[in-house]
Amino acid sequence: MQTGNGKGVFAGIAIGKIFVFKKQELVIVRGTANTVEEEIERYKAAKELSAKQLKVLFDKTAAEVGQEEAMIIDVQLLMLDDLDYEEEVLRKITEEKENAAYAVTATGEEFAEFFASMDDPYMKARAVDVGDVSKRIAMNIQGINPDGIKMEEPMVIVAEDLTPSETLQLDKNMILAFVTQKGSSNSHTAILARTMNIPSLVGADIEITPELNGKLMIVDGNSGKYYIDPDDITLDEKERRRKAQLQQKELLNQLKGKENVTIDGKKINIYANIGNPKDVDLVINNDAGGIGLFRSEFLYLGRDSAPTEEEQFASYKYVAEKMNGKKVIIRTLDIGADKKADYFGFAEEENPALGYRAIRICLDQVDLFKTQLRAIYRASAFGQISIMFPMIISVAEVKRIKEICEEVKEELIKEGHEIAPHVELGIMIETPAAVMVSDELAKEVEFFSVGTNDLTQYTLAIDRQNAKLDKIYDAHHPAILKMLKMIVDNAHKAGAWAGICGELGSDTTLTETFLRMGFDELSVSPTFVLSVRKAVRDTDLSKKTTV
Ligand code: PEP
Ligand code: MG
Repeated sequence: MQTGNGKGVFAGIAIGKIFVFKKQELVIVRGTANTVEEEIERYKAAKELSAKQLKVLFDKTAAEVGQEEAMIIDVQLLMLDDLDYEEEVLRKITEEKENAAYAVTATGEEFAEFFASMDDPYMKARAVDVGDVSKRIAMNIQGINPDGIKMEEPMVIVAEDLTPSETLQLDKNMILAFVTQKGSSNSHTAILARTMNIPSLVGADIEITPELNGKLMIVDGNSGKYYIDPDDITLDEKERRRKAQLQQKELLNQLKGKENVTIDGKKINIYANIGNPKDVDLVINNDAGGIGLFRSEFLYLGRDSAPTEEEQFASYKYVAEKMNGKKVIIRTLDIGADKKADYFGFAEEENPALGYRAIRICLDQVDLFKTQLRAIYRASAFGQISIMFPMIISVAEVKRIKEICEEVKEELIKEGHEIAPHVELGIMIETPAAVMVSDELAKEVEFFSVGTNDLTQYTLAIDRQNAKLDKIYDAHHPAILKMLKMIVDNAHKAGAWAGICGELGSDTTLTETFLRMGFDELSVSPTFVLSVRKAVRDTDLSKKTTV
Protein backbone atom coordinates (compact mmCIF):
# COMPACT_ATOMS: atom_id res chain seq x y z
CA MET A 1 0.00 0.00 0.00
CA GLN A 2 1.22 3.49 -0.86
CA THR A 3 -0.15 6.52 1.01
CA GLY A 4 0.24 10.26 0.69
CA ASN A 5 -1.36 13.60 1.46
CA GLY A 6 -3.01 16.47 -0.26
CA LYS A 7 -5.38 19.21 0.71
CA GLY A 8 -8.99 18.05 0.81
CA VAL A 9 -11.22 20.49 -1.07
CA PHE A 10 -14.35 18.42 -0.87
CA ALA A 11 -15.05 16.03 1.94
CA GLY A 12 -16.14 12.47 1.40
CA ILE A 13 -14.53 9.19 0.56
CA ALA A 14 -14.15 7.72 -2.90
CA ILE A 15 -12.82 4.31 -3.79
CA GLY A 16 -12.04 3.33 -7.35
CA LYS A 17 -9.51 2.70 -10.06
CA ILE A 18 -7.08 5.40 -11.12
CA PHE A 19 -7.25 7.18 -14.45
CA VAL A 20 -4.14 9.27 -15.13
CA PHE A 21 -5.24 12.42 -16.90
CA LYS A 22 -2.87 13.85 -19.49
CA LYS A 23 -3.07 17.41 -20.72
CA GLN A 24 -5.29 17.58 -23.77
CA GLU A 25 -3.41 20.44 -25.35
CA LEU A 26 -1.28 20.04 -28.39
CA VAL A 27 2.11 21.67 -27.97
CA ILE A 28 3.76 22.01 -31.34
CA VAL A 29 7.45 22.86 -31.41
CA ARG A 30 9.91 22.64 -34.30
CA GLY A 31 12.83 20.29 -34.81
CA THR A 32 13.50 16.95 -33.18
CA ALA A 33 16.10 15.06 -31.24
CA ASN A 34 14.91 11.78 -32.81
CA THR A 35 16.13 10.18 -36.01
CA VAL A 36 14.19 10.63 -39.24
CA GLU A 37 13.20 6.95 -39.09
CA GLU A 38 11.81 7.34 -35.58
CA GLU A 39 9.73 10.37 -36.59
CA ILE A 40 8.40 8.53 -39.66
CA GLU A 41 7.51 5.61 -37.42
CA ARG A 42 5.65 7.93 -35.03
CA TYR A 43 3.74 9.45 -37.94
CA LYS A 44 2.79 6.05 -39.37
CA ALA A 45 1.65 4.65 -36.01
CA ALA A 46 -0.43 7.77 -35.32
CA LYS A 47 -1.95 7.61 -38.80
CA GLU A 48 -2.94 4.00 -38.26
CA LEU A 49 -4.45 4.78 -34.87
CA SER A 50 -6.31 7.74 -36.37
CA ALA A 51 -7.81 5.48 -39.03
CA LYS A 52 -9.00 3.05 -36.36
CA GLN A 53 -10.53 5.87 -34.30
CA LEU A 54 -12.26 7.37 -37.32
CA LYS A 55 -13.75 4.01 -38.28
CA VAL A 56 -15.21 3.61 -34.78
CA LEU A 57 -16.51 7.18 -34.95
CA PHE A 58 -17.99 6.52 -38.41
CA ASP A 59 -19.96 3.50 -37.21
CA LYS A 60 -21.13 5.28 -34.08
CA THR A 61 -22.22 8.39 -35.98
CA ALA A 62 -23.94 6.34 -38.67
CA ALA A 63 -25.86 4.37 -36.03
CA GLU A 64 -26.65 7.19 -33.63
CA VAL A 65 -26.92 10.28 -35.83
CA GLY A 66 -27.28 9.30 -39.45
CA GLN A 67 -25.52 8.16 -42.59
CA GLU A 68 -25.24 11.67 -44.01
CA GLU A 69 -23.42 13.02 -40.95
CA ALA A 70 -21.18 9.96 -40.92
CA MET A 71 -19.99 10.86 -44.42
CA ILE A 72 -18.05 13.79 -42.94
CA ILE A 73 -15.94 11.23 -41.12
CA ASP A 74 -15.61 9.18 -44.26
CA VAL A 75 -14.08 12.23 -45.98
CA GLN A 76 -11.51 12.46 -43.19
CA LEU A 77 -10.71 8.78 -43.59
CA LEU A 78 -10.02 9.37 -47.28
CA MET A 79 -7.79 12.31 -46.46
CA LEU A 80 -5.70 10.11 -44.22
CA ASP A 81 -4.70 8.17 -47.32
CA ASP A 82 -4.15 11.15 -49.58
CA LEU A 83 -0.82 10.61 -51.31
CA ASP A 84 0.03 14.30 -51.80
CA TYR A 85 -0.60 14.97 -48.15
CA GLU A 86 1.56 12.08 -47.00
CA GLU A 87 4.32 12.99 -49.42
CA GLU A 88 4.50 16.51 -47.95
CA VAL A 89 4.49 15.24 -44.35
CA LEU A 90 7.34 12.84 -45.12
CA ARG A 91 9.27 15.55 -46.99
CA LYS A 92 9.08 17.82 -43.96
CA ILE A 93 10.36 15.02 -41.74
CA THR A 94 13.15 13.82 -44.03
CA GLU A 95 14.32 17.01 -45.73
CA GLU A 96 13.48 19.68 -43.16
CA LYS A 97 14.25 17.40 -40.19
CA GLU A 98 11.03 18.36 -38.45
CA ASN A 99 9.27 16.26 -35.85
CA ALA A 100 6.18 14.33 -36.91
CA ALA A 101 3.65 16.44 -34.99
CA TYR A 102 5.00 19.65 -36.52
CA ALA A 103 5.15 18.13 -40.01
CA VAL A 104 1.53 17.02 -39.82
CA THR A 105 0.28 20.30 -38.36
CA ALA A 106 2.15 22.47 -40.86
CA THR A 107 1.04 20.29 -43.80
CA GLY A 108 -2.53 20.42 -42.50
CA GLU A 109 -2.40 24.22 -42.39
CA GLU A 110 -0.99 24.46 -45.92
CA PHE A 111 -3.62 22.13 -47.34
CA ALA A 112 -6.39 23.92 -45.42
CA GLU A 113 -5.27 27.24 -46.86
CA PHE A 114 -5.24 25.74 -50.35
CA PHE A 115 -8.76 24.33 -49.98
CA ALA A 116 -10.05 27.57 -48.48
CA SER A 117 -8.82 29.53 -51.51
CA MET A 118 -10.87 27.41 -53.95
CA ASP A 119 -14.09 28.69 -55.53
CA ASP A 120 -15.99 25.42 -55.31
CA PRO A 121 -17.94 25.57 -52.01
CA TYR A 122 -17.55 21.80 -51.54
CA MET A 123 -13.76 22.02 -51.79
CA LYS A 124 -13.73 25.15 -49.61
CA ALA A 125 -15.48 23.24 -46.85
CA ARG A 126 -12.75 20.57 -46.93
CA ALA A 127 -10.35 23.07 -45.32
CA VAL A 128 -11.92 22.26 -41.94
CA ASP A 129 -11.65 18.51 -42.52
CA VAL A 130 -7.98 18.52 -43.39
CA GLY A 131 -7.35 20.69 -40.33
CA ASP A 132 -9.32 18.28 -38.15
CA VAL A 133 -7.65 15.18 -39.42
CA SER A 134 -4.18 16.73 -39.03
CA LYS A 135 -4.99 17.69 -35.48
CA ARG A 136 -6.11 14.14 -34.79
CA ILE A 137 -2.86 12.66 -36.10
CA ALA A 138 -0.77 15.22 -34.19
CA MET A 139 -2.65 14.46 -30.96
CA ASN A 140 -2.11 10.76 -31.43
CA ILE A 141 1.59 11.41 -32.01
CA GLN A 142 1.67 13.19 -28.65
CA GLY A 143 -0.32 10.47 -26.88
CA ILE A 144 -3.44 12.58 -26.42
CA ASN A 145 -6.80 10.97 -27.09
CA PRO A 146 -8.43 13.25 -29.71
CA ASP A 147 -11.91 12.06 -28.79
CA GLY A 148 -11.53 13.30 -25.25
CA ILE A 149 -11.36 11.25 -22.15
CA LYS A 150 -13.28 8.03 -22.36
CA MET A 151 -13.75 5.97 -19.25
CA GLU A 152 -15.65 2.73 -19.21
CA GLU A 153 -16.45 2.95 -15.50
CA PRO A 154 -16.39 5.71 -12.86
CA MET A 155 -12.76 6.33 -11.90
CA VAL A 156 -10.47 8.47 -9.77
CA ILE A 157 -8.77 11.16 -11.88
CA VAL A 158 -5.12 11.71 -11.02
CA ALA A 159 -3.47 14.65 -12.76
CA GLU A 160 -0.64 17.09 -12.45
CA ASP A 161 -3.18 19.87 -12.67
CA LEU A 162 -6.60 20.49 -14.13
CA THR A 163 -7.75 23.77 -15.59
CA PRO A 164 -11.42 24.75 -15.29
CA SER A 165 -11.96 24.06 -18.99
CA GLU A 166 -10.40 20.59 -18.73
CA THR A 167 -12.57 19.82 -15.72
CA LEU A 168 -15.61 20.88 -17.71
CA GLN A 169 -14.85 18.46 -20.52
CA LEU A 170 -14.86 15.45 -18.24
CA ASP A 171 -17.95 13.29 -18.02
CA LYS A 172 -19.08 13.96 -14.46
CA ASN A 173 -20.88 10.66 -14.16
CA MET A 174 -17.59 8.88 -14.69
CA ILE A 175 -15.57 10.66 -11.99
CA LEU A 176 -15.32 9.38 -8.44
CA ALA A 177 -12.64 11.78 -7.23
CA PHE A 178 -9.89 14.17 -8.30
CA VAL A 179 -6.32 14.09 -7.02
CA THR A 180 -4.01 16.77 -8.42
CA GLN A 181 -0.38 17.55 -7.73
CA LYS A 182 -0.94 21.27 -8.20
CA GLY A 183 -3.86 23.53 -7.42
CA SER A 184 -5.10 25.43 -4.42
CA SER A 185 -8.31 24.99 -2.48
CA ASN A 186 -9.73 28.26 -3.75
CA SER A 187 -9.08 27.70 -7.41
CA HIS A 188 -12.00 27.37 -9.79
CA THR A 189 -11.16 23.72 -10.31
CA ALA A 190 -11.63 23.10 -6.60
CA ILE A 191 -14.90 25.01 -6.75
CA LEU A 192 -16.04 22.82 -9.65
CA ALA A 193 -15.17 19.71 -7.66
CA ARG A 194 -17.39 20.96 -4.85
CA THR A 195 -20.22 21.69 -7.27
CA MET A 196 -19.85 18.22 -8.69
CA ASN A 197 -19.94 16.71 -5.21
CA ILE A 198 -16.68 14.88 -5.76
CA PRO A 199 -14.12 14.09 -3.03
CA SER A 200 -10.96 15.86 -4.11
CA LEU A 201 -7.41 16.54 -3.07
CA VAL A 202 -5.21 19.30 -4.47
CA GLY A 203 -1.51 19.85 -3.87
CA ALA A 204 -1.06 16.09 -3.45
CA ASP A 205 2.40 14.59 -2.96
CA ILE A 206 1.93 12.01 -5.68
CA GLU A 207 4.31 10.95 -8.39
CA ILE A 208 2.35 10.62 -11.58
CA THR A 209 3.36 7.74 -13.80
CA PRO A 210 1.39 5.79 -16.43
CA GLU A 211 1.74 2.69 -14.18
CA LEU A 212 -0.81 4.23 -11.81
CA ASN A 213 -3.52 3.63 -14.40
CA GLY A 214 -6.01 1.04 -13.21
CA LYS A 215 -4.65 0.73 -9.65
CA LEU A 216 -7.14 0.90 -6.80
CA MET A 217 -7.14 4.17 -4.88
CA ILE A 218 -8.94 5.49 -1.83
CA VAL A 219 -9.36 9.26 -1.67
CA ASP A 220 -10.31 10.65 1.70
CA GLY A 221 -11.35 14.27 1.22
CA ASN A 222 -11.89 14.66 4.99
CA SER A 223 -8.37 13.84 6.11
CA GLY A 224 -6.63 14.79 2.86
CA LYS A 225 -5.10 11.32 2.62
CA TYR A 226 -4.93 8.96 -0.33
CA TYR A 227 -4.10 5.25 -0.45
CA ILE A 228 -2.96 3.34 -3.53
CA ASP A 229 -3.33 -0.45 -3.59
CA PRO A 230 -4.84 -0.32 -0.06
CA ASP A 231 -4.56 -3.31 2.26
CA ASP A 232 -7.76 -5.09 3.28
CA ILE A 233 -8.00 -3.49 6.72
CA THR A 234 -7.77 0.05 5.30
CA LEU A 235 -10.18 -0.79 2.51
CA ASP A 236 -12.76 -2.20 4.96
CA GLU A 237 -12.50 0.75 7.29
CA LYS A 238 -12.80 3.34 4.51
CA GLU A 239 -15.69 1.47 2.92
CA ARG A 240 -17.50 1.56 6.27
CA ARG A 241 -16.87 5.30 6.58
CA ARG A 242 -17.99 5.87 3.01
CA LYS A 243 -21.30 4.16 3.78
CA ALA A 244 -21.69 6.13 7.03
CA GLN A 245 -21.26 9.37 5.10
CA LEU A 246 -23.91 8.34 2.63
CA GLN A 247 -26.24 7.76 5.56
CA GLN A 248 -25.46 11.22 6.91
CA LYS A 249 -26.34 12.61 3.52
CA GLU A 250 -29.64 10.79 3.76
CA LEU A 251 -30.32 12.58 7.05
CA LEU A 252 -29.62 15.92 5.42
CA ASN A 253 -32.02 14.95 2.65
CA GLN A 254 -34.77 15.05 5.24
CA LEU A 255 -34.30 18.83 5.35
CA LYS A 256 -35.55 19.16 1.80
CA GLY A 257 -38.68 21.25 1.66
CA LYS A 258 -37.95 22.78 5.08
CA GLU A 259 -37.48 26.51 5.65
CA ASN A 260 -34.15 28.25 6.22
CA VAL A 261 -35.18 29.66 9.56
CA THR A 262 -33.38 29.95 12.88
CA ILE A 263 -34.86 28.63 16.13
CA ASP A 264 -35.90 32.19 17.01
CA GLY A 265 -37.51 32.81 13.63
CA LYS A 266 -34.97 34.67 11.46
CA LYS A 267 -35.09 33.66 7.81
CA ILE A 268 -32.38 33.75 5.18
CA ASN A 269 -32.28 32.74 1.52
CA ILE A 270 -30.03 29.85 0.62
CA TYR A 271 -29.25 29.78 -3.07
CA ALA A 272 -26.79 27.77 -5.12
CA ASN A 273 -23.86 28.54 -7.41
CA ILE A 274 -23.56 26.98 -10.84
CA GLY A 275 -21.14 27.14 -13.75
CA ASN A 276 -23.01 25.12 -16.31
CA PRO A 277 -26.68 24.98 -17.32
CA LYS A 278 -26.65 21.24 -16.57
CA ASP A 279 -25.86 22.01 -12.91
CA VAL A 280 -29.40 23.27 -12.53
CA ASP A 281 -30.48 19.68 -11.78
CA LEU A 282 -28.15 19.70 -8.76
CA VAL A 283 -29.72 22.98 -7.63
CA ILE A 284 -33.19 21.51 -7.80
CA ASN A 285 -32.18 18.18 -6.21
CA ASN A 286 -30.62 19.99 -3.29
CA ASP A 287 -33.66 22.20 -2.87
CA ALA A 288 -31.93 25.57 -3.22
CA GLY A 289 -34.20 28.63 -3.19
CA GLY A 290 -32.63 30.04 -6.33
CA ILE A 291 -29.36 30.46 -8.16
CA GLY A 292 -27.24 33.12 -6.49
CA LEU A 293 -24.34 32.90 -8.93
CA PHE A 294 -24.37 31.54 -12.44
CA ARG A 295 -20.71 31.75 -13.49
CA SER A 296 -21.54 32.44 -17.13
CA GLU A 297 -17.89 32.48 -18.23
CA PHE A 298 -17.94 28.69 -18.20
CA LEU A 299 -20.08 28.91 -21.34
CA TYR A 300 -17.05 30.53 -22.99
CA LEU A 301 -14.49 27.90 -21.95
CA GLY A 302 -13.46 24.67 -23.66
CA ARG A 303 -14.39 25.81 -27.16
CA ASP A 304 -12.81 27.48 -30.17
CA SER A 305 -14.90 30.65 -30.36
CA ALA A 306 -17.13 32.73 -28.12
CA PRO A 307 -20.72 31.49 -27.76
CA THR A 308 -23.13 33.39 -29.96
CA GLU A 309 -26.10 35.37 -28.68
CA GLU A 310 -28.40 32.51 -29.68
CA GLU A 311 -26.31 29.87 -27.90
CA GLN A 312 -26.18 31.97 -24.75
CA PHE A 313 -29.87 32.79 -24.96
CA ALA A 314 -30.68 29.07 -25.14
CA SER A 315 -28.55 28.37 -22.02
CA TYR A 316 -29.99 31.21 -19.93
CA LYS A 317 -33.54 30.45 -21.03
CA TYR A 318 -33.06 26.77 -20.17
CA VAL A 319 -31.88 27.62 -16.66
CA ALA A 320 -34.56 30.28 -16.09
CA GLU A 321 -37.32 27.92 -17.21
CA LYS A 322 -36.02 24.99 -15.21
CA MET A 323 -35.92 27.13 -12.08
CA ASN A 324 -39.60 27.76 -12.63
CA GLY A 325 -39.91 31.32 -11.31
CA LYS A 326 -37.16 31.07 -8.71
CA LYS A 327 -34.44 33.70 -8.90
CA VAL A 328 -31.47 33.13 -11.24
CA ILE A 329 -28.62 35.60 -10.83
CA ILE A 330 -26.46 35.53 -13.93
CA ARG A 331 -23.00 36.95 -13.51
CA THR A 332 -21.64 38.48 -16.68
CA LEU A 333 -18.42 37.21 -18.19
CA ASP A 334 -15.67 36.90 -15.57
CA ILE A 335 -12.95 35.67 -17.86
CA GLY A 336 -9.25 36.08 -17.15
CA ALA A 337 -6.75 34.87 -14.54
CA ASP A 338 -7.24 31.07 -14.35
CA LYS A 339 -10.29 31.09 -16.63
CA LYS A 340 -8.71 31.39 -20.03
CA ALA A 341 -10.09 31.03 -23.53
CA ASP A 342 -7.36 31.06 -26.14
CA TYR A 343 -9.57 32.38 -28.91
CA PHE A 344 -9.76 35.78 -27.21
CA GLY A 345 -6.08 36.11 -28.01
CA PHE A 346 -5.28 38.07 -24.87
CA ALA A 347 -1.61 38.72 -24.24
CA GLU A 348 0.16 36.92 -21.38
CA GLU A 349 0.26 39.14 -18.30
CA GLU A 350 2.66 39.44 -15.40
CA ASN A 351 -0.18 39.59 -12.86
CA PRO A 352 -3.28 38.11 -14.45
CA ALA A 353 -5.35 38.33 -11.26
CA LEU A 354 -4.73 42.07 -11.30
CA GLY A 355 -5.05 42.29 -15.04
CA TYR A 356 -7.32 42.56 -18.00
CA ARG A 357 -10.26 40.52 -16.80
CA ALA A 358 -13.98 40.39 -16.12
CA ILE A 359 -15.84 43.71 -16.30
CA ARG A 360 -12.67 45.44 -17.49
CA ILE A 361 -12.82 43.41 -20.69
CA CYS A 362 -16.56 43.93 -21.04
CA LEU A 363 -16.34 47.69 -20.68
CA ASP A 364 -13.45 47.74 -23.15
CA GLN A 365 -15.03 45.39 -25.69
CA VAL A 366 -18.60 46.62 -25.52
CA ASP A 367 -19.80 44.46 -28.43
CA LEU A 368 -18.80 41.30 -26.57
CA PHE A 369 -20.59 42.61 -23.47
CA LYS A 370 -23.69 43.58 -25.41
CA THR A 371 -23.96 40.15 -27.02
CA GLN A 372 -24.13 38.60 -23.57
CA LEU A 373 -26.51 41.22 -22.19
CA ARG A 374 -28.83 40.79 -25.16
CA ALA A 375 -28.95 37.05 -24.50
CA ILE A 376 -29.64 37.57 -20.80
CA TYR A 377 -32.35 40.19 -21.31
CA ARG A 378 -34.05 38.04 -23.93
CA ALA A 379 -34.00 35.09 -21.52
CA SER A 380 -35.47 37.31 -18.79
CA ALA A 381 -38.89 36.83 -20.40
CA PHE A 382 -38.77 33.16 -19.39
CA GLY A 383 -38.15 33.32 -15.64
CA GLN A 384 -36.88 35.49 -12.84
CA ILE A 385 -33.45 36.63 -13.96
CA SER A 386 -31.17 39.11 -12.20
CA ILE A 387 -27.83 40.32 -13.56
CA MET A 388 -24.67 40.78 -11.55
CA PHE A 389 -21.34 42.28 -12.57
CA PRO A 390 -17.94 41.03 -11.37
CA MET A 391 -14.74 42.77 -10.25
CA ILE A 392 -16.27 46.20 -9.74
CA ILE A 393 -13.99 48.89 -8.33
CA SER A 394 -15.87 52.14 -8.91
CA VAL A 395 -19.19 53.93 -9.15
CA ALA A 396 -18.21 55.12 -12.63
CA GLU A 397 -18.05 51.51 -13.86
CA VAL A 398 -21.53 50.82 -12.52
CA LYS A 399 -22.94 53.96 -14.13
CA ARG A 400 -21.45 52.96 -17.49
CA ILE A 401 -22.80 49.40 -17.12
CA LYS A 402 -26.27 50.75 -16.45
CA GLU A 403 -26.08 52.93 -19.56
CA ILE A 404 -25.10 49.93 -21.66
CA CYS A 405 -27.94 47.87 -20.16
CA GLU A 406 -30.40 50.62 -21.09
CA GLU A 407 -29.07 50.69 -24.66
CA VAL A 408 -29.40 46.92 -24.93
CA LYS A 409 -32.95 46.94 -23.59
CA GLU A 410 -33.96 49.71 -25.99
CA GLU A 411 -32.45 47.86 -28.95
CA LEU A 412 -34.20 44.64 -28.03
CA ILE A 413 -37.58 46.30 -27.57
CA LYS A 414 -37.20 48.10 -30.90
CA GLU A 415 -36.45 44.76 -32.55
CA GLY A 416 -39.65 43.36 -31.06
CA HIS A 417 -38.08 41.05 -28.47
CA GLU A 418 -39.92 40.40 -25.27
CA ILE A 419 -38.05 41.12 -22.04
CA ALA A 420 -39.08 41.04 -18.38
CA PRO A 421 -40.56 44.34 -17.15
CA HIS A 422 -37.90 44.51 -14.46
CA VAL A 423 -34.51 42.84 -14.27
CA GLU A 424 -32.74 43.33 -10.96
CA LEU A 425 -29.16 44.60 -11.27
CA GLY A 426 -26.46 43.93 -8.69
CA ILE A 427 -22.73 43.82 -8.33
CA MET A 428 -20.16 41.56 -6.83
CA ILE A 429 -18.21 43.04 -3.98
CA GLU A 430 -14.87 41.34 -4.34
CA THR A 431 -12.31 44.13 -4.33
CA PRO A 432 -11.30 46.19 -1.31
CA ALA A 433 -12.09 49.29 -3.39
CA ALA A 434 -15.70 48.19 -3.79
CA VAL A 435 -15.96 47.61 -0.05
CA MET A 436 -14.65 51.06 0.73
CA VAL A 437 -17.13 52.75 -1.62
CA SER A 438 -19.96 50.32 -0.92
CA ASP A 439 -22.06 53.15 0.54
CA GLU A 440 -21.98 54.90 -2.85
CA LEU A 441 -22.28 51.71 -4.88
CA ALA A 442 -25.36 50.64 -2.92
CA LYS A 443 -27.23 53.68 -4.23
CA GLU A 444 -26.69 52.47 -7.80
CA VAL A 445 -27.81 48.84 -7.55
CA GLU A 446 -30.42 46.61 -6.00
CA PHE A 447 -28.10 44.07 -4.45
CA PHE A 448 -24.57 43.15 -3.49
CA SER A 449 -23.13 39.67 -3.59
CA VAL A 450 -19.82 39.28 -1.85
CA GLY A 451 -17.20 37.28 -3.70
CA THR A 452 -15.17 36.23 -0.69
CA ASN A 453 -12.74 34.21 -2.81
CA ASP A 454 -11.41 37.23 -4.62
CA LEU A 455 -12.04 39.60 -1.73
CA THR A 456 -9.75 37.46 0.42
CA GLN A 457 -7.17 37.27 -2.36
CA TYR A 458 -7.09 41.03 -2.90
CA THR A 459 -7.36 42.02 0.75
CA LEU A 460 -4.69 39.68 2.04
CA ALA A 461 -2.55 40.05 -1.10
CA ILE A 462 -2.52 36.25 -1.47
CA ASP A 463 -2.91 34.67 -4.90
CA ARG A 464 -5.83 32.25 -4.50
CA GLN A 465 -4.19 29.97 -7.06
CA ASN A 466 -0.93 29.62 -5.17
CA ALA A 467 -0.91 26.27 -3.40
CA LYS A 468 2.06 27.33 -1.28
CA LEU A 469 0.03 30.09 0.31
CA ASP A 470 -3.06 27.97 0.93
CA LYS A 471 -2.21 27.78 4.63
CA ILE A 472 -2.32 31.54 5.11
CA TYR A 473 -5.20 32.22 2.75
CA ASP A 474 -7.52 32.92 5.65
CA ALA A 475 -11.03 33.98 4.75
CA HIS A 476 -11.73 34.27 8.51
CA HIS A 477 -9.19 37.08 8.81
CA PRO A 478 -10.65 39.93 10.90
CA ALA A 479 -10.11 42.26 7.96
CA ILE A 480 -12.54 40.19 5.89
CA LEU A 481 -15.10 39.86 8.66
CA LYS A 482 -15.06 43.62 9.27
CA MET A 483 -15.51 44.22 5.56
CA LEU A 484 -18.47 41.85 5.44
CA LYS A 485 -20.24 43.77 8.18
CA MET A 486 -19.51 47.07 6.45
CA ILE A 487 -20.90 45.72 3.16
CA VAL A 488 -24.22 44.55 4.65
CA ASP A 489 -24.70 47.74 6.61
CA ASN A 490 -24.04 49.92 3.58
CA ALA A 491 -26.34 47.83 1.40
CA HIS A 492 -29.18 48.01 3.90
CA LYS A 493 -28.77 51.75 4.46
CA ALA A 494 -29.46 52.28 0.76
CA GLY A 495 -32.31 49.76 0.62
CA ALA A 496 -30.32 47.08 -1.23
CA TRP A 497 -30.01 43.46 -0.15
CA ALA A 498 -26.72 41.66 0.45
CA GLY A 499 -25.56 38.10 0.03
CA ILE A 500 -22.39 36.06 -0.08
CA CYS A 501 -21.60 33.91 -3.09
CA GLY A 502 -17.93 33.13 -2.39
CA GLU A 503 -16.93 29.81 -0.85
CA LEU A 504 -17.02 31.28 2.63
CA GLY A 505 -20.82 31.31 2.43
CA SER A 506 -20.88 27.54 2.94
CA ASP A 507 -18.60 27.62 5.98
CA THR A 508 -21.05 26.55 8.67
CA THR A 509 -18.75 27.71 11.46
CA LEU A 510 -19.69 31.22 10.30
CA THR A 511 -23.38 30.75 9.53
CA GLU A 512 -24.39 32.29 12.85
CA THR A 513 -22.01 35.21 12.26
CA PHE A 514 -23.51 35.87 8.84
CA LEU A 515 -27.02 35.75 10.27
CA ARG A 516 -26.08 38.20 13.01
CA MET A 517 -24.41 40.50 10.51
CA GLY A 518 -27.73 40.62 8.70
CA PHE A 519 -26.96 38.90 5.39
CA ASP A 520 -30.10 38.25 3.36
CA GLU A 521 -28.73 35.43 1.26
CA LEU A 522 -25.99 32.80 1.13
CA SER A 523 -25.24 31.23 -2.21
CA VAL A 524 -23.22 28.04 -1.99
CA SER A 525 -22.25 25.01 -4.07
CA PRO A 526 -25.48 23.01 -4.55
CA THR A 527 -24.11 20.16 -2.44
CA PHE A 528 -23.79 22.49 0.58
CA VAL A 529 -27.33 23.88 0.53
CA LEU A 530 -28.70 21.34 3.00
CA SER A 531 -25.78 21.51 5.42
CA VAL A 532 -26.08 25.32 5.54
CA ARG A 533 -29.84 24.93 6.03
CA LYS A 534 -29.12 22.63 8.96
CA ALA A 535 -26.71 25.19 10.46
CA VAL A 536 -29.34 27.93 10.13
CA ARG A 537 -32.03 25.77 11.72
CA ASP A 538 -29.69 24.88 14.60
CA THR A 539 -28.96 28.56 15.35
CA ASP A 540 -30.69 30.53 18.08
CA LEU A 541 -29.98 34.23 17.72
CA SER A 542 -31.82 35.08 20.92
CA LYS A 543 -28.93 33.52 22.83
CA LYS A 544 -26.14 35.86 23.89
CA THR A 545 -23.00 35.78 21.83
CA THR A 546 -19.77 37.62 21.32
CA VAL A 547 -20.30 37.91 17.56
C1 PEP B 1 -15.53 35.07 -5.58
O1 PEP B 1 -14.54 35.68 -6.01
O2 PEP B 1 -15.75 34.85 -4.39
C2 PEP B 1 -16.53 34.57 -6.54
C3 PEP B 1 -17.68 34.07 -6.12
O3 PEP B 1 -16.21 34.57 -7.85
P1 PEP B 1 -15.18 33.53 -8.52
O4 PEP B 1 -14.85 32.50 -7.49
O5 PEP B 1 -15.85 32.97 -9.71
O6 PEP B 1 -14.03 34.41 -8.84
MG1 MG C 1 -14.46 36.37 -8.07
